[in-house]
Amino acid sequence: MNVVAGPCSFESKEQTFEVISFLNKLGIKDIRGGINKYRSDKNTYQGNSAVLGWIKEAKRIYDFKYYAEVFDIMDVINFDDVVDVYQVGSRNMYNTTLLKNININRKPVILKRHYCASLQELVKHAEYLDGCEVTLCLRGKQSLFPQEQRFCHDFADIDILKKMTNLPIMYDVSHSSCWSYRVKNAIKGAMVYEPNSIMIELHPDPPNALSDPDQQLNFDEFKSIYREILSE
Ligand code: PEP
Ligand code: MN
Repeated sequence: MNVVAGPCSFESKEQTFEVISFLNKLGIKDIRGGINKYRSDKNTYQGNSAVLGWIKEAKRIYDFKYYAEVFDIMDVINFDDVVDVYQVGSRNMYNTTLLKNININRKPVILKRHYCASLQELVKHAEYLDGCEVTLCLRGKQSLFPQEQRFCHDFADIDILKKMTNLPIMYDVSHSSCWSYRVKNAIKGAMVYEPNSIMIELHPDPPNALSDPDQQLNFDEFKSIYREILSE
């Protein structure tokens, strides 16, 4: 299975190198990790532009593609020499100004489904990404019972989406699972629907992660799940 893995956010130089060397040992060459972060609470971690320098240094040692979210066209320009694949996050799926202009650098784009968007809206918004190599990413949709789970799994939408489009489909098992203990079964469930790739968040010390601490796998959990169900 094609796997894109990495922390929710790159947080420090030490954490950046720890994650990248860990994934490199497993042979994973598609690495994600946020630079700036969208947070509902403005008093929580907002990201760190120093990530760009850390990734540049890491690329001198390790061979990998770097996936990161862009919020606007300034990010597309400023991240150009470091980011290989742009991610348009759930909250920006409807941002047609960004979608129309993102292809200035001709890089592949992961378009995440807004957590309240229909599949039709996702497919229609992907049409704005004219000229880009696009992957559609399902990442869980708004739950009817947010006090119990913020998002619920939408991997069973993959077969419907496949009837609507020929674009490759990624399933983000971390945001859709909300908690790390659910990730393994989510991967198994999603794989029944044969997505083209799976996105997974991991962190050397999830309880102390600066964003999404509940859903990120630790290294031991990631390694055992990867070896058991993902590595062939
Ligand atoms: C992320 O990938 O870290 C993220 C914020 O995802 P989403 O836009 O799906 O919430
Ligand atoms: Mn995250």
